[in-house]
Amino acid sequence: MSVRVRFAPSPTGPLHIGGVRTALYNYLFAKKHQGDFILRIEDTDQNRFVPGAEQYIIESLKWMGIEPNEGVGFGEGTHAPYRQSDRKGMYRQYAEQLLHRGLAYYAFDTESDLEYLKNTFPNFKYDAVTRMHGKNSITLSEQEVAQRLAKNEPYVIRIKIPEDETIRFTDEIRGNVMVQTTQMDDKVLLKSDGMPTYHLANVCDDYIMKITHVIRGEEWLPSAPLHVLLYRFLGWEDAMPKFAHLPLLLKPDGNGKLSKRDGDRLGFPVFPLEWKDPVSQEISSGYKQRGYLPEAVLNMLAFLGWNPGTEQEIFTKEELIQAFSLDNIHKAGAKFDFEKAKWFNAEYIKHTSNERLATLVKNIVEEKFGVQEDANLTQAMALIKERMVFINDVENFGYIFKATEKYDSANLEKVNKIKDTLNLDSLEQSLLHAPENASDLEAYLKTYVTEQTLKMGDFMKFLRVSLVGELSGPAIPDLMLLFGKTESIQRIKNCYSQL
Ligand code: GLU
Repeated sequence: MSVRVRFAPSPTGPLHIGGVRTALYNYLFAKKHQGDFILRIEDTDQNRFVPGAEQYIIESLKWMGIEPNEGVGFGEGTHAPYRQSDRKGMYRQYAEQLLHRGLAYYAFDTESDLEYLKNTFPNFKYDAVTRMHGKNSITLSEQEVAQRLAKNEPYVIRIKIPEDETIRFTDEIRGNVMVQTTQMDDKVLLKSDGMPTYHLANVCDDYIMKITHVIRGEEWLPSAPLHVLLYRFLGWEDAMPKFAHLPLLLKPDGNGKLSKRDGDRLGFPVFPLEWKDPVSQEISSGYKQRGYLPEAVLNMLAFLGWNPGTEQEIFTKEELIQAFSLDNIHKAGAKFDFEKAKWFNAEYIKHTSNERLATLVKNIVEEKFGVQEDANLTQAMALIKERMVFINDVENFGYIFKATEKYDSANLEKVNKIKDTLNLDSLEQSLLHAPENASDLEAYLKTYVTEQTLKMGDFMKFLRVSLVGELSGPAIPDLMLLFGKTESIQRIKNCYSQL
């Protein structure tokens, strides 16, 4: 049987980085087993619907390079539609099947009926004991139920949880799970507006879409016994998927679940892309806009809850697919580590081709420093990528893209000794005939220093300040080759004139 997994987010806001990790693990698992990866949008809770969230989810998966091969926004597969609100007519029949077999019941309790029950029973939950005090098709006569239905009285359909049984299933990460039905409640399956709840829609769709493995966050573990029971009640036990509940993503100090507020407080994004809240207009930062490479984020996320069992940390997507296995997922929550995220990004920037980096920085550079030639931009990347942590760090290298007009007086002071010994005309002549590769140019500059009896340190410092306006930066010969002779000489003359 071929592997089919799904990522099933609800479009209730921007996709949290924990959700991206869930999608990633599903993607890796599907690819490893040459299976299908499906995007299903679970939007049955209309009250929590947020405009733009679905599109955001799709764009995030695209940016991360973990694209489903079936589902909303990714082409029609055999089980379209993949948005639950577009499938809403499909679920009622299953709730009714359960009704007819005595495994579910109508409940007519109004808000105030429920309020009464809550006040009467401490720690109220609708279950085998309390349902006997509710207004439902178990306590009411058949005739009264028929009358209420005929009068179109609002009702929900609840599952009838067995009174005292043990539900057992195996979780691929947590092992054997056992829950007493006395701990469970008669969850609503079909709401009074005719929409299924998450539980009914989720189980029906996993069955209909032939999902083989449900890989999702730990927060859904408490729902799993109910889902197991639904498979049994609906007669689908043989087709029940395997469950794998992923460890939580924790705050950096390990104290609770990672939230948007932690990101704001500690200065790192918790969303893949920037998000503007449609109501408050508040903007939350995204990894992309902060200058992360998607493959660095992917590598970093893969390690939050999983590791390959070796020392290797840098993995391409292909390598992750090969190495990934549910067996190596941890049970314990994974602490988010901002420093590690930066480390991954810096590593990836260092190893990304100059050409690709040039395309990524082009807009940022041109907006700040004016139009650049592509070839120059590419060459510049070779010089600065070792010093970048984020793509946006390119802004710190403005001197490369734009000559300094007015030099900083403190820096000028540090190099003005050269004024008494340097012959600017001879330097210009010499540079015009300089060799055009870095090591020869370095040797050539040294020879010049010796011939002119200059002080090496003073001369090099002066060149550096002339070229980049400050006393640190990439190697001088590299900078001169990047700028070319005319530009280099111009920068030197300009600096000299300000000494
Ligand atoms: N709609 C649920 C969510 O928003 C899906 C949980 C599951 O994967 O079953 O996370």
